[in-house]
Order: sequence, then C-alpha cells, then structure tokens
Amino acid sequence: MTQPTDREPDPRTLRVNVDRLWDDLHRLSEIGRGDRGISRLAFSPQDMEARQWLLRRFEAAGIPARMDSYGNVFGRLGGVQEGDLGERSPGAAPVLMIGSHVDTVPEGGMFDGALGVLAGLECLRTLKESGVRLPFAVDVAAFSNEEGARLGPGTFGSRVLLEGISDDEWMKVSPVLKEAGLGHGVEGGPSLDPAHLRAYLELHVEQGGVLDASGEDIGVVQGIVCIKLFYVTFKGVPNHAGTTPMGHRKDALLGAAELVLSVPKVVREVGSPITVGTSGQIRVSPGGRNIIPGEAEISIEVRDLDDEVASRVVESLRNKASEIASSRGLRVEMSRVASTAGAGMAPEIQDIIEREAAALGLSTRRMPSGAGHDAMTFGNKVPSGMIFVPSRGGISHSPEEWTSKEHCGNGAQVLLRTVLALAAGRTGR
Ligand SMILES: [Zn+2]
Repeated sequence: MTQPTDREPDPRTLRVNVDRLWDDLHRLSEIGRGDRGISRLAFSPQDMEARQWLLRRFEAAGIPARMDSYGNVFGRLGGVQEGDLGERSPGAAPVLMIGSHVDTVPEGGMFDGALGVLAGLECLRTLKESGVRLPFAVDVAAFSNEEGARLGPGTFGSRVLLEGISDDEWMKVSPVLKEAGLGHGVEGGPSLDPAHLRAYLELHVEQGGVLDASGEDIGVVQGIVCIKLFYVTFKGVPNHAGTTPMGHRKDALLGAAELVLSVPKVVREVGSPITVGTSGQIRVSPGGRNIIPGEAEISIEVRDLDDEVASRVVESLRNKASEIASSRGLRVEMSRVASTAGAGMAPEIQDIIEREAAALGLSTRRMPSGAGHDAMTFGNKVPSGMIFVPSRGGISHSPEEWTSKEHCGNGAQVLLRTVLALAAGRTGR
C-alpha cells in the first residue's frame, strides 16, 4: 500500500463493522451451546461444525478459505493460488497472519478465541470492501486444539504447522483426527516456513481482570510468560496423633505448609513486579485425621516474562525448601524443574498497537500474558503482536465470560489499524 490515490480511500478512515462482528460472535456461540456454557472440544462434532460454519462465513464474504488436514481453517485476502493457503512457496510475497481459535474448554464462554478469529474475518471483509491494496496477503487462521482440554497439550494447530510435533504426540492425536475425518496425507511435520510470514497478530480477551479493574481499553501484550514447575516432597515420621508429644514430632505437612507460605514472600523479594508463584497441589500421606503426616508433596509453579527471573525465584524456593527441612528435622526431595518457554512480542509491533489505539482515543496498558496462546508458537520465530481487550471480572473458561460489544469493536479496530500500519511500513515511534 502506498499513498492513497483518488480511487483508493485513505486507509486510516476505514472502520470495521462492529454490528456484523457482534452478530458473528452470537451466531458462532450457538454452536455447541448447552445449558451451561459452550462446549466445542477439539475435533468434536461441535468443533467441526464451527469450522465448517467459519468456512461458509469466509466464502459468503467472497474470501477464499480452506481447512487443512490438521483442522486449521484459513481465509485469505490477497494474491493467492488455490491450495496455497497457510503455506507459501519459496520466493512468494510474505503473508501477514492473524490467528486464534474456535475450540473451547468444556462449558466455556463465547469470546475466548472466537473474538480473535471473527475480528480477523471482519478485518478481511472491511479491507476487501474498501478496495485498499496491501503489499502482502492476509491470512486469518482458526487454529485447531488451542485449548488442549480434550487432548493435551494445547496450541496443537499452530505448533504442528510451525514446529511439527513429536512422534509420541502424533500417536495420540492422529486417531482423533481420523475420527473427525482429518489427518490424511500428513504426519505431524512442520509445513509453514516462518520466513514467509511478515508478522503474526492475535486479538484475545484478557483473562486476568487487570484491564477490567483499571478501566483501560486495550492491553498491549509484551510477551507470554514462561512457566517453571517442580514438586517438593517433605518426609518426616508418621505417628499416633494422640500419643506423640508436640516436641517429639517430625510432621512433614508443617514443612510443606511453611514452604507454601514462603512462596508469595520469595516471589516479592526475588522476582519482578509481574512474577507469579503458586502452590496449587498438595498430597499428604498417610492422610488420616489421627496420624501425624509422614509425607507431604506440593507443586510449585513460577511464571515470568523473563526466564532468568523465573529461574532465580525457583532457585530461592528450592533453597528455602532445604532450609525448612533441616530446621524441622525432615528430609526433602525435589523433582527436576519442568520448563515451558515463553515468547516475547515484537517491540516495534507493541509500539504500533499502542500508537494506533491512542489515535482512536483508546487508553492502553503494556502487560504480560499469563496464559498461553497461539501467539506463543509464533512469538520466537516471527515478529508478533497481541492485543487484549477487557473481560468482565477477568472471568474466562466459564459461561460467565463477557466482553462488551464496544470493547470487541475497539479490539477489532485496533487490529485493522495495526494491519494497515504494517502495510504502510509505519513504525511505532
Ligand atoms: Zn484462547
């Protein structure tokens, strides 16, 4: 896209049709709707019905669309050949990809994932109707099995395209794909070369309640946090709860309890302002009401944008566990730390999102994403950006999930302007 000509409208005056987006959100929400929320578990009949519906919505707008063998749906605006969607041959012009998902958790809400896909569709419709020409094709993708609720881990559709998946995971997934009429002629290897993508963008409802509480309109996502998880087992001596004097006990649960209480303290002292730490599981044995606990195992997970910060917090918590054990005369065992990598969002795209939102009179906040998204798959390989809009009370994965029509429209409009800014080669500052 160059300077607007007489025949071409000024792209900056383009507006998405919020009524049409809102109508699509409601129509999609009818697929898989039960008494309590919406259930479109990955590759279920409801999920496949939603994918077919989406294909028809693209086609109704005159936008070529297709579903690949992994269940990913793509609609494309811009110079394409048949069968070329979602992949590019070497030397082809780059593609800007907008993505999210239409699968849900059991009894989920109508905005998580759906908003990102349908806002992408609305952007394509608006661009097509305006006649604005872009220097790249724009793909809107509904990736399959983002949630991982039926078949973990999640973000399957984006990972399989960009990274390929392990043989183990393929063994688990391929029968489910076959059942859904998918998976033919593919083996779980990567098929999308990140070098052919100009950028990746995703609009999503914020799932933490920060924007709703602060009253800000748009979250500019700095990155998706990494997750570090480990288990600590304290071992003491199980004994009679009635006959063992207090001074003679080696109570494993007291060690675990002390460590649980130290988690917020260590996070505050050693972490960054955005670090979070949680002890969410506990197992006590033998587990009798009249037995001093002989063994207590807890899980601890730590999340931060910065891997080093998260590692530092984990190290401090592991040292703390050893200290607590020796002060209480307990033994302690710790599992290895399992790590899920995070992903940074491109600073130049963060700047663009912030500036385009401001141009629309919307307030913004830079923030991490504490939840995983398909953008996580793209973030370390392709310049990526994520836009958050407020979710009432921060509730998601629930029928109570709600984002107002105004906020949905704001998010879609910022998404459209971000596409246009990337097309014009405008940088954020
Ligand atoms: Zn989601």
